Amino acid sequence: MDIIERFMENPKRSKEEYVELIGRAEDRQAAQTLAQRALQIRRQHYGNKVYTRGLIEFTNYCKNNCYYCGIRCGNKKARRYRLTEEEILGCCQEGYRLGFRTFVLQGGEDPYFTDDRMVSLIRQIRTGYTDCAITLSIGEKPYESYRRFREAGADRYLLRHETANEIHYGRLHPPAMSLQNRKNCLNWLKELGYQTGAGFMVGSPGQKREHLAEDLVFLSELKPHMVGIGPFIPHHHTKFAHEKPGSVELTLFLLSAVRILLPKVLLPATTALGTLAFDGRIKGLMAGANVVMPNLSPVKNRKQYDLYDNKIATDQEAAEGKESLSRQVRQAGFCLADERGDFMF
Ligand code: SAH
Repeated sequence: MDIIERFMENPKRSKEEYVELIGRAEDRQAAQTLAQRALQIRRQHYGNKVYTRGLIEFTNYCKNNCYYCGIRCGNKKARRYRLTEEEILGCCQEGYRLGFRTFVLQGGEDPYFTDDRMVSLIRQIRTGYTDCAITLSIGEKPYESYRRFREAGADRYLLRHETANEIHYGRLHPPAMSLQNRKNCLNWLKELGYQTGAGFMVGSPGQKREHLAEDLVFLSELKPHMVGIGPFIPHHHTKFAHEKPGSVELTLFLLSAVRILLPKVLLPATTALGTLAFDGRIKGLMAGANVVMPNLSPVKNRKQYDLYDNKIATDQEAAEGKESLSRQVRQAGFCLADERGDFMF
């Protein structure tokens, strides 16, 4: 039997078989077959709903130095900002008005935002917006911090593993960081009852098919509730400035594969995908994604949360553009849902 058929029949496969599967990404027929199955599965669990998340990029200070990232601490050219508590709460207020029922607080690993400050912030959002989900995406923390955030009212946590291969991880990150710690964090988050998100970049420097196959093996074992997959995009102030960006087609192929592998997963059509192709996010939805995360950050700071070059932050990427996004999504046969959009347990 063909690998595509074998995978669709039972998506839990060996690394070698995933390598073979990924080898078919450029075969349009294979990609279409996979996308059709992915759509069918997402429809079974989530109908035609597309969940929205209001993304609040509240600080671009970061103590880490991930080599691919524009806001890494080693980039002295980055213009740093951090939002005040009032500004963050203001974003939530505006987001609520626009219909968002999930707020994602994302940022660099900024020591200013101590656990006490985060707990106070989470509590205020929790009490002010009882019908909303709170998602955090603030990197690696000790177990005790995750526990306190959870107790304060955080519901979900996004922490991409970036690549499941140790050696490849080492090429993308400084020696102070380790894949093992990232994995530990993901396990703690699950243990603490967060809806937990892992994920990886497609086409990051040095990535081989084998590495992506390991990502699929890792996801099939971790079984996260959310998976963020976006193409790598170079940033001009990093050592990867002249590397090629990841492939849109391969990203779409992997979105379909992950939908089939984890049928109920919350799968965003990411900003990076929308940056590389003007209709990237709609293509993502057509490949099996069911989440979009428009930007709710104050307009004056958007350009500064500069993870990679040409990151889109206006029009349909912006929360204010929700109407026009909604139209596009409807044209593609889906419907934006103003609800929390929790994982279907
Ligand atoms: N500090 C948080 C948030 C990181 S930014 C954390 O560590 O989880 C969110 C995601 O952006 C990262 O996980 C990474 O996968 C992605 N990203 C960063 N730089 C990128 C680049 N150059 N191209 C594509 N995606 C990138």
